[in-house]
Amino acid sequence: MLYVIGIGPGSQATMTMEALDAINDAEVIVGYKTYTHLVKALTVGKEVIKTGMCKEIERCLAAIELAQTGKKVALISSGDAGIYGMAGLILELVTKQNLDVEVRLIPGMTASISAASLLGAPLMHDFCHISLSDLLTPWEVIEKRIIAAAQADFVICFYNPRSRGRADHLERAFELMKPFKAAATPVGVVKSASRKKQEKWITTLGDMDFEPVDMTSLVIVGNQSTYEQNGLMITPRGYEV
Ligand code: SAH
Repeated sequence: MLYVIGIGPGSQATMTMEALDAINDAEVIVGYKTYTHLVKALTVGKEVIKTGMCKEIERCLAAIELAQTGKKVALISSGDAGIYGMAGLILELVTKQNLDVEVRLIPGMTASISAASLLGAPLMHDFCHISLSDLLTPWEVIEKRIIAAAQADFVICFYNPRSRGRADHLERAFELMKPFKAAATPVGVVKSASRKKQEKWITTLGDMDFEPVDMTSLVIVGNQSTYEQNGLMITPRGYEV
């Protein structure tokens, strides 16, 4: 059995009961070390295989091989495993190679949902997710999607917004949105949602300071109706109030 588990953004309180049960049932836990650390209290006495960043294919193959030996294995991702996580890769490997392993996917709360509730209610209308990581996606494709999403007035949640290796991506994304979104459009940033170092702030498209944004951050850019009031970011659904 191979459980592919989304453990939510950080704290155990934001994990589902289903994820908790699957971790309890598993004999071996496999995951990137930040994530295995987040579930440390739940994995006492279990075999824990910590891996570094990258090496995703090796990590998934190791988990599949272990499951094939008859062990109950839990591969954990932060947030939801099906959103920029390991779920897709596991299913690609298992289906393409026609492997005999039972895979059970356990959903988790993705970062955008967690960040949104900390900021207010910015996702009340149509929204999309865009990852600014060009490790697996060509940058031209990412640019095309940013422009299309801004043009269509989606609220946009940026994952992987900024790292040392790609310090300018978020700034470039903001430049691309400017012809379609007003400078006063609210922007919410949440760092380390549900984790010890949680931080959040609200600014605007025009006043955005990119420097404090890093890989632990989620950035939400509003649509043309989004506003800030009393420190809350609100996207109206359209009710008359
Ligand atoms: N599977 C994860 C996303 C992995 S991609 C999910 O569903 O949430 C990694 C990116 O997710 C980070 O760069 C960041 O943009 C975002 N992220 C993940 N956890 C976060 C958290 N606790 N707080 C803020 N952003 C987070």
